[in-house]
Amino acid sequence: MNQFDVIVVGAGNGGLVAAATVAKEGFKTLLLEKHNLPGGCATSFVRGRFEFEAALHELCGDSTCEKHESVRTIFERLGVDVKLYHEDTLFRTICKGENGYDAVIRAGYDGFLDSMEEAVPGCRESVKSFFDLIGEIDDAQTFMNENGINPMVLYTKYGNFMRVASHSAKEVMDALEIPEKAQSILSTYWGYLGVPVDNLNALHYLSMLTAYVKAKPSMPYHRSHELSLALVRALQGFGGEILYNSEVTRFVYNAKGEAIGVIANGKLYYAKKIISNIIPNNVFNRSNRSAIPAAARKLANARKLGMTFNTIYLGLDSSMEELGITDYSVFIASDPDSRKQFDDRGEYGMYVVNCMNKALPDSSPKGTCTLFFTIMVMPGDFPEDLTPQEYKKYKNKIAEKYIRDYEKTMGVSVMDHIEEIVVATPATFARYLATPDGAIYGYASETWDNIIGRIAMKDGENKIPGVYFCGGHAERGDGYPSAYITGAMTGEEVVNDLRRGK
Ligand SMILES: Cc1cc2nc3c(=O)[nH]c(=O)nc-3n(C[C@H](O)[C@H](O)[C@H](O)COP(=O)(O)OP(=O)(O)OC[C@H]3O[C@@H](n4cnc5c(N)ncnc54)[C@H](O)[C@@H]3O)c2cc1C
Repeated sequence: MNQFDVIVVGAGNGGLVAAATVAKEGFKTLLLEKHNLPGGCATSFVRGRFEFEAALHELCGDSTCEKHESVRTIFERLGVDVKLYHEDTLFRTICKGENGYDAVIRAGYDGFLDSMEEAVPGCRESVKSFFDLIGEIDDAQTFMNENGINPMVLYTKYGNFMRVASHSAKEVMDALEIPEKAQSILSTYWGYLGVPVDNLNALHYLSMLTAYVKAKPSMPYHRSHELSLALVRALQGFGGEILYNSEVTRFVYNAKGEAIGVIANGKLYYAKKIISNIIPNNVFNRSNRSAIPAAARKLANARKLGMTFNTIYLGLDSSMEELGITDYSVFIASDPDSRKQFDDRGEYGMYVVNCMNKALPDSSPKGTCTLFFTIMVMPGDFPEDLTPQEYKKYKNKIAEKYIRDYEKTMGVSVMDHIEEIVVATPATFARYLATPDGAIYGYASETWDNIIGRIAMKDGENKIPGVYFCGGHAERGDGYPSAYITGAMTGEEVVNDLRRGK
């Protein structure tokens, strides 16, 4: 009764896709989730008359292309049919100060190039050459996903891929002689990855940027909780089982060091394969030390945790038109240089404000609107040992500081219109996701620890026999698409291994 083919630990969007993928192939699947709800980050919450999106600003990669790994094809394979709204504007990016700018950048290949040219006359060709690198990069990534890393084929068939693979986004933009101001605007999305462009792998950045540009940012009509529920329905439709309020406290191994099960609520569940949607650090904490290969421990110690956030969710008593709010997504920076923005992250370096009503007018009651502030925090920034009173003060201070700055920058007044306010911090995310330091995005994707390095190391000596990983901490880094793609790929890998009796 407690014997399964596959156990998935954690019902984040990565875990849900992985579980549905193996259940679809007829394998007996159990998903264990510590909360009473599915979704992890992909959820919503209600305060008063507002239902707030907890995480999703915009989903990228909902393309109609036939790529095996696109979000659309993953959903289609699982029969998940959630209608998504597509936004025509990528973002408005405002940089304060002497060398500042205020530009609205449109989505779609031509719209993007046209609006870059409007913002920085003369930049079109160099921006286009940056952008066009993605075709070959995509092909090379597909090749690697299907065949592993074969340096000879990569050298001969995917020369541009090899040329940019180990460089930072900044180095590639410099090499293509993109004007400085255009580089700053092009770099705006670095804030979604938490690594400034001088240290951010060019492939990683380009993949994300082009996915947003080409497929347009999208979002579900009923918050990301709708996506999570649709995935649960898919899993259950394929005969998979999901148990909530079931925190996995222990991974269990046989004498050969192979994972054979987990313990949740004091009960032992057996499986042939275990997929972890929880960060490796937490698998190690829940395993006998001897079961974790030395290389895996070494790797975990060498890696840096990625960013987390302070977030402010506002329910306002007036419509966006009444308040003079005009944009869906505004990135506000204090300096054009992403390194400087990163260093000044506690002092308005870079933050993002979204007004969902611009995209989905009825996402809050008539005559109201919501704002969602996202402010980057790195591990170690968040003060330790705050008393409950100090914690309250910390949250009030953050909220007041950033709301005031937003009002001043945008020339609007929101403070007097706040009907509901919720402030989340790394402590909130640590509590809900159980990640170290409240990390949302797994490990920082920088220097040696980038997508390519991670794919290369995936099945190396750091592999724990019988344990597979998917989600924001996996090889593709953070974000909904990464969670879906790693969920699907890991699910398929497990299916193949089970079929081959591996
Ligand atoms: C404020 C915010 C804004 C974001 N904005 C965007 C955005 O605009 N676009 C984008 O693409 N991405 C965004 N993200 C990132 C995106 O939400 C995540 O990368 C993605 O949802 C991670 O999915 P995951 O599969 O890694 O699982 P997680 O969401 O990390 O879920 C893990 C699950 O595991 C469960 N769990 C943990 N420990 C245990 C245990 N021991 N036993 C059982 N269950 C356990 C947790 O309860 C949770 O349900 C944002 C995230 C946040 C927080």
